[in-house]
Amino acid sequence: MTTDGKFSPFEASLWYATAAPAPETTALAGRETADVCVVGAGYAGLTTALELARRGVSVVLLERKEIGYGGSGRNAGHCTPTFTHFSLPELRKVLGEPWAERLIHRQTRANDKVGEMIARYAIDCEWEQNGYVQGAQFPHHMRVLEARARDYNAIGARTRMLDRGEAEAITGSPRYLGGWLHEEAGGLNALGYARGLGRAVMAEGGRIFTGSAVTGCEPREGKWAVRTSAGEVLAEKVIFTTGAYTVGGWPELEETFRIMRVFVAATQPLSAESRAACLPRRTTIHDGRGDIYVYKYNAENRIVASMFPMGRRGRDMAYTRQVMTDRLKWLHPGIREKIDWPFLWYGELDMQRLTIPRLYGLAPGVVAMTGLSGRGVPTGSMLGGILSEWAMGVPEADLSLRLEPLSRQPRYMSFAPQLALVGYRLRDDLRAIAARVPLPPHA
Ligand SMILES: Cc1cc2nc3c(=O)[nH]c(=O)nc-3n(C[C@H](O)[C@H](O)[C@H](O)COP(=O)(O)OP(=O)(O)OC[C@H]3O[C@@H](n4cnc5c(N)ncnc54)[C@H](O)[C@@H]3O)c2cc1C
Repeated sequence: MTTDGKFSPFEASLWYATAAPAPETTALAGRETADVCVVGAGYAGLTTALELARRGVSVVLLERKEIGYGGSGRNAGHCTPTFTHFSLPELRKVLGEPWAERLIHRQTRANDKVGEMIARYAIDCEWEQNGYVQGAQFPHHMRVLEARARDYNAIGARTRMLDRGEAEAITGSPRYLGGWLHEEAGGLNALGYARGLGRAVMAEGGRIFTGSAVTGCEPREGKWAVRTSAGEVLAEKVIFTTGAYTVGGWPELEETFRIMRVFVAATQPLSAESRAACLPRRTTIHDGRGDIYVYKYNAENRIVASMFPMGRRGRDMAYTRQVMTDRLKWLHPGIREKIDWPFLWYGELDMQRLTIPRLYGLAPGVVAMTGLSGRGVPTGSMLGGILSEWAMGVPEADLSLRLEPLSRQPRYMSFAPQLALVGYRLRDDLRAIAARVPLPPHA
């Protein structure tokens, strides 16, 4: 609850209740100068500022609310260095070379970067690298996952297929026919990680101002003046990393993506008996269905699970909690205790058609990055490398993302991902029926 008694999805999160405190910051007042001004303190902006500051580039980071206020403080904390939507061969077709290979390399090595930053700056964020299992609930899933394992292993990822017995031993669930284990995946306290990155930026000499919404940006004296209500930053280069939470700052930036909501909930700490029946090796798990259920433990042994809204789910909170319990207990019949979900919150994703981050050239010396489309912990963390290279003058042709003019996302992207979810659920049900596999409880 906020001080005026309203529900705040940011403050309702488990991470808000448990994250290590944020570094002390103030609002911008008066004029600052810097080589680079970064706008938005999510993972993309924080890692950009960090990469720059540690190389001695002077950087100011402006944040409208507080560090991690957007998706970076609210996400479920799964850190799996893969792509969500496209397979690697599909991505190569969509992006073409050299872009595909460069981005694939960055994304699939992102967890090395996450682990390195956490260790170097001693970030207190529950980082556990216990792997990720994508479960297979019917034979078709196994074939898809086998292809995925081959593709990722061919570029050096440490992944392997699990048969039924091993999938049950690792996940504790009798529902999976097998699965795909990605050993390098991990999990963390989302807000704790964002705040720790903020602390690292400041330790490297970067300046962060919170409560400082950028209201405009215009050329002045051969530089850019980035304005807030109480001050301005004069910088050579400006980088917008305002993601799904973009409010103003640059004309039409909000048009580069469409919003899709996702919710996350956390249980009470589970008993040792439940933990033996549910993720005994503390991996993160995706239940393999198109209408996803993804879950892992936090440091206190609470299950943190996420789903997309559908019908009453995500709108009616009591009903939503029941749905989360039903799915968890169906997957793990060995859980006997009553499940509560004392934490339930939501956030927004910046969806766009290609489902990969998009780098827009807004004007000479000004770029924006939006459209992470849901896979942001590893992705946001590796983007700092790309954006800082742009700021330090790496030629456009050598970047890992193509610099493109700002383009609006089509209107259909406001409802297409939601419709696709309904379609995926139907398709999975038909496959399950064909394979005579039990269906999960639906809601
Ligand atoms: C509920 C939820 C669950 C998720 N689960 C996962 C998960 O488990 N794993 C995973 O990999 N990804 C997950 N994601 C996606 C991931 O969290 C995001 O893709 C990622 O955090 C986006 O980072 P970002 O830096 O691009 O933007 P954000 O973290 O959204 O940061 C943008 C910042 O810009 C600020 N801002 C906006 N406008 C202005 C302005 N005018 N001036 C100054 N500042 C401004 C905002 O206040 C915000 O703090 C999830 C997302 C949500 C919402």
